Amino acid sequence: MEVLNRFPQNMLFKDVIGNELVKARLIDSVKGNRISHAQLFLGPEGSTKLAAALAYARFVACTDRGEMDSCGKCPSCKKYNQLIHPDLHFVYPVVKTKKFANPVSDDFIKEWRSSILENPYINLSEWYDIIGAENIQGSIYAQESQAIIRKLNLKTFEAEYKVMIIWMPEKMNVTAANKLLKLLEEPPAKTLFILVAEDDEAIISTIRSRVQLVKFTKFSETDLSQLLRLKFGNENSEIETAVKLASGNYSIASAILKGNLSSNEYFENFATLMRLCYTRKVPETVAWVDTFSAMGREQLKGFFEYALRIIRDSFILNRAGSGVPISLTTSEMNFASKFSPFIHEVNIQGINKEFQTAYFHIERNGYSKIVLLDMALNLMKLLKLTNVPAE
Ligand SMILES: [Zn+2]
Repeated sequence: MEVLNRFPQNMLFKDVIGNELVKARLIDSVKGNRISHAQLFLGPEGSTKLAAALAYARFVACTDRGEMDSCGKCPSCKKYNQLIHPDLHFVYPVVKTKKFANPVSDDFIKEWRSSILENPYINLSEWYDIIGAENIQGSIYAQESQAIIRKLNLKTFEAEYKVMIIWMPEKMNVTAANKLLKLLEEPPAKTLFILVAEDDEAIISTIRSRVQLVKFTKFSETDLSQLLRLKFGNENSEIETAVKLASGNYSIASAILKGNLSSNEYFENFATLMRLCYTRKVPETVAWVDTFSAMGREQLKGFFEYALRIIRDSFILNRAGSGVPISLTTSEMNFASKFSPFIHEVNIQGINKEFQTAYFHIERNGYSKIVLLDMALNLMKLLKLTNVPAE
C-alpha cells in the first residue's frame, strides 16, 4: 500500500480536524489580544493537540492573518511550513546516545522537524523509535533548562512573540520542571509557552496551576476516517476497520494500516488467548506469547484496546442478552455468544484491569514478553471465577 510522504497540509487551523469550539476560542483570543502566556494543550494520545499547538503558534506569528486562519503565504508562514521560524522553539523528551551523553532537544531537532511534519499526531513510543530508543525511557533532562533560558534570552528575531512548545512535559525531570516553574512565575515579556501533554496528573501541580488549560478530545470516528483517507488514500479498504479498532487514537489506526494488521488477526489472537487461558494450557500460552510479543508496541496497544471492547460487549451480552446495541461483527458475535457466560460481575473489573495494565506497561516500554505472560497467567485465574459471590 502506498503511503504518502506528507499530509497535503501545513498545519493551519483548517488542517486541525475536530475540536471546533476549542479552535474558535483560540482564534478569538489572538484576535482579541488575549493571549495567555502559558497554556496547557491537553489531549489523549493520538489526538490533535500538537497539531493545534502548531496551528495556534503559526496564527500568532502570521503577518497577514485572516479572520479565521493564518495566510499560509507570508514569510513567517513559509518558515512555519518547515518549522524553522527563528522565534519558534521546541522542547521534547530525548535519550542518551553514544553521540549525546547529555542530550538536549536541539540535538535531535532534525529528526523532530521531519517527524512532526510527517505526523503531527505522533506519540511518545513512535518518537522514541525514531531517535533509536527502543526500550529506553527518554526524559527532558536538567540540562534542557539552560537551553530554554538561553533561547528565551534571545531577543525575538522576526515575530512579536517567542513561542516555546514543550511536548510531553510529563517527562520533565524535577530539576527541569522547577526551572520551568520559575519561568512561568516570572514570564519573560512576549513569550508564549505551550505545553502539549496527555496526562496532566503527571505534571507537577505547581506548574499545572500556572497554565491555562485547553482541552482536546480524541478524534471522532468520522474525523479519524477523514484524516486516514488523507494519509493512506481514499480507496484504502482497511480504513473503516482501523477506525473501529483504534478508539479515536490516530497512532493505533495508522499502525494497523501500516502494519497490515487486519481486524481478523486481532480477533483470531484474542479468541486463541481466551481459549488457552480458560483451559489453562500453560505451555501453549507461553508459545502464543512468544509469537505475539514480536508485534510492534502500537499494534499491541491496539490489541489491548480491542480486547477491552470485546470484553465489554461480552459482558453486556451476558447481562442483557442479544438484542442490545453492540458493535460486533458476525464472527465476533459467534465467539461472544459462547464466551459471554464467563464474563460477569465477579471478574469483569479484574479482567479489564489486566488489559489496561498491559497497555500501561507496553506504553512505558515494558518488555512485551513479560507483560503478556503476566497478563495471561492472571487471566487464567480470573476466567475460572464463577459468578457466585462468596461461594
Ligand atoms: Zn502568514
